[in-house]
Amino acid sequence: MFTLFFYVSTRGSRRVGLRIQVLASGSKGNSIWICSEKTQILVDAGLSGVEITKRLKESGGNPKKLEAILVSHEHRDHVSSVGVLSRRYDLPVLVNQGTLDSLPPKIAPLSQVLLFKTGSTFEFGDLCIHPFSIPHDASDPVGFIISENNSSVGICTDLGMATKLVVNYLKSCKALILESNHDPDLLINGPYPWELKKRIRSKHGHLSNIDAVKLTELVYHRNLKHLILAHLSETNNHPEIVGTLFNRAREQNEWENLNIEVSEQKCPCNPVIV
Ligand SMILES: [Zn+2]
Ligand SMILES: [Zn+2]
Repeated sequence: MFTLFFYVSTRGSRRVGLRIQVLASGSKGNSIWICSEKTQILVDAGLSGVEITKRLKESGGNPKKLEAILVSHEHRDHVSSVGVLSRRYDLPVLVNQGTLDSLPPKIAPLSQVLLFKTGSTFEFGDLCIHPFSIPHDASDPVGFIISENNSSVGICTDLGMATKLVVNYLKSCKALILESNHDPDLLINGPYPWELKKRIRSKHGHLSNIDAVKLTELVYHRNLKHLILAHLSETNNHPEIVGTLFNRAREQNEWENLNIEVSEQKCPCNPVIV
């Protein structure tokens, strides 16, 4: 699988990109596997350690080659196996102080902690990582721009609303992993208690399908090649609804050369290389 990841440019020098694979996405667990030429990390680890290891191996990976777990925020669907994987594979956990302080006590101890500051770019291996603040009901939740040479991916799930800051950061990426959480009608008419519905719809909750389309319209540029829609609600959404909506938006907006994928809870997405 890694042979796909390297290619030779027409000028003869080898160029390297990022390989990105969503291993799982949704309210029952999230994890994204990112590889550059030299560095492999997970962004979040919200399934069981056994399940993430299984999915990684089935996707051609080796958990022993991982070098860190990067954490977006402390909600259980993003961190439930951060401790287990950190200890089992001796992985440092890259996290900000607010999230570290709010991690569920059950996941401790961590093998090693490397603190980052929201808003400050840092390097890890050959990856350049910029964590930026996002509106969500957690201590210090962040989205990420992860780049290596000319390749970059923006990761923004668990997002109550698209702020100007979010739009500005996501404008420059070649690949995006964006939340498309719920269909507003399914949510309103669905079985959740009213308080939970209110929380999901709030500015610190989750992004609806239609708001995800609007965000894509704001950040689209001709070099955006891949859009992966993520964190779909299993109760208040359906991959077909999201696929239909975004395919229509692609036609209307003439999003040429944009490959759109809808990620799933039950199995890994196809890998994307930028
Ligand atoms: Zn989540
Ligand atoms: Zn969350």
